Amino acid sequence: MRVLLLGGTAEARELAALLVADGVDVVSSLAGRVARPRLPVGPVRIGGFGGVPGLRSALAEYDVVVDATHPFARGMSANAVRACAAENMPLLRLERPGWPLDPDWHRAADHDEAARLAAALGRRPFLTVGRQELARFVPALGDRAVLARVVDAPDLVLPPAWELVTSRGPYTHEGDLALMAGHRADVLVTKNSGGTYTWPKLTAAAELGLPVVVVDRPAPEPGVEVVSDATAARAWVQARA
Ligand code: NAP
Repeated sequence: MRVLLLGGTAEARELAALLVADGVDVVSSLAGRVARPRLPVGPVRIGGFGGVPGLRSALAEYDVVVDATHPFARGMSANAVRACAAENMPLLRLERPGWPLDPDWHRAADHDEAARLAAALGRRPFLTVGRQELARFVPALGDRAVLARVVDAPDLVLPPAWELVTSRGPYTHEGDLALMAGHRADVLVTKNSGGTYTWPKLTAAAELGLPVVVVDRPAPEPGVEVVSDATAARAWVQARA
């Protein structure tokens, strides 16, 4: 049983550890976006496959695919669905649940809407949407005193009023409280990533009484079996061994 594990998430690393412990032949795949990725145990390949055709060619080396990419990494998930369908290869989606919806959240369907909402709600936004999405916030928030937290600095030239902080979770309530209070943030912007690593900013925002703008998850790929934790994904792999 050779497993291609599309990763870049904590759940993917957790599943890799379980499968390696089980003696399963698993290769974790990372996009290569961050300079110093957290590596899973076991073999790792890094870099894109070259779209659906490239992924189809790569699938010759595997028997099943587990797509454990981030809930907002929809391009990779869509490619996995197409390539696996074309190669008749079993595909499982491992996706952590989203955070429970809070009726007080200002929900946005996408990052552009989140930018407009943030502009209406505050003058000193705390942006935690990822490096790749920052450009979409510049039109609405270019003149605001934005504090943007990212893992690696973006290529983008940021507006002069913006401040960048580079760090990587997991975060703590106390740490996020200090960061947000220190900036005098008056609105938090986040994706509904789910999981525990980045949850403390929500409790910190609640303690500070800040409005929260949350970007909803994009729609999942239809027709794919989904599990929400690594243990269930391991059972799926075992059932196919
Ligand atoms: P994306 O938009 O879905 O993917 C864009 C392209 O990057 C894909 O078509 C593929 O290139 C390559 N790629 C993505 N994930 C890959 C993987 N695991 N292995 C090999 N190639 C991969 O992805 P993204 O939003 O840029 O995210 C990139 C990676 O960061 C993902 O693996 C994801 O799990 C992780 N991540 C993303 C977020 C987020 O908010 N988007 C947050 C945390 C972690 P080819 O077409 O050339 O194959």
